[in-house]
Amino acid sequence: MEGDTVRVLFIAAHPDDVELSCGGTAAKWAKAGRELIYVVCTNGDKGTHDRSLSPFRLAELREEEQRQAAARIGAKEVIFLRHPDGELEACSNLRMELAMLIRRFCPQIIFTHDPWRRYQIHPDHRAAGLAACDAIVLARDHLFVPVLEIVGLPPHAPSELYLWGTDDPDYFEDITETLQDKLDAVACHQTQLAQMPDWQDRVRQWAADVGAKAGTAYAEGFHRIIFRPAEHVFPRNAEPPADNRKS
Ligand SMILES: [Zn+2]
Repeated sequence: MEGDTVRVLFIAAHPDDVELSCGGTAAKWAKAGRELIYVVCTNGDKGTHDRSLSPFRLAELREEEQRQAAARIGAKEVIFLRHPDGELEACSNLRMELAMLIRRFCPQIIFTHDPWRRYQIHPDHRAAGLAACDAIVLARDHLFVPVLEIVGLPPHAPSELYLWGTDDPDYFEDITETLQDKLDAVACHQTQLAQMPDWQDRVRQWAADVGAKAGTAYAEGFHRIIFRPAEHVFPRNAEPPADNRKS
């Protein structure tokens, strides 16, 4: 990857998920020169307790909040799929949309929700994470959806996947230097903050709790999956390990 810009695709269910889940990491990586692209699957049109706000107006406001937050983080682009909030399913349509975007942007790294988090009751978080994982498979092999190659989207295989909101973090990013960037970006989501008046303390405390595990003041934790070319796992023409040979 050295020499080339590292491109990172964030696949989130709602406006605000990226900032809350990995805003410190995203801001840090943007400062390091990585190119960040967001995909937001739903329009967030059910995320309010304010009965004077129509779902249509809420969706407009949240899209604008997401654009501002992404700009604050240093992201290059935000793509809105605008599915109805709360109704996301890891269906073939969503998998296809995400696979097309993976092939279009060719990210080396993908971030998304951990769809296997225990007791995750929000259906959109489960669906977005699962569809993103499924889409990686659709995007990487040429015999999946061959029409994509015909329309100019050849296969692409990312090398790393980071799952946020995980029960099983095995990778920690020190966000001590970018915690303030995360707080500033979360602050852009004004429609959401009224429901969480102590949000600054909570965001800071989450980062401190993860930091205690990571040995830093503030951190974000992920389950990281590194994809290796099949040749590395099963070398071609390799002899089987000696123990497994039949005598
Ligand atoms: Zn969410």
